[in-house]
Amino acid sequence: MGMSYRRYLAGARVYGCSNCRTHLATIHSMVSRAFNGQHGRAYLFDDVVNVIEGEPSDRQMTTGNHTVRDIYCCKCGVILGWKYDKAYDPQQKYKEGKFILERSLLVDVQ
Ligand SMILES: [Zn+2]
Repeated sequence: MGMSYRRYLAGARVYGCSNCRTHLATIHSMVSRAFNGQHGRAYLFDDVVNVIEGEPSDRQMTTGNHTVRDIYCCKCGVILGWKYDKAYDPQQKYKEGKFILERSLLVDVQ
């Protein structure tokens, strides 16, 4: 991918891309561990860095219909999870603007 500028995170625990170790998120921005991704367990984060967002698409999930964007590692291009643009169910609105990262695609870098 053509992006050379990357941000580095510091903190008690930093999660990175399991493929290239680019920093993605810290434990402080984690909202929940109780999510499921395409490859098993997944985490919900308030804030994620060093990702590229794809085009929005509507996806039917167990918790209803959502508009989401796949998110890609800015260095190696691996799909890491998705971002919630919109939740149609009022009870799911808290997810809007937040990010899912697949646990199996993360590595502890710090
Ligand atoms: Zn990567």
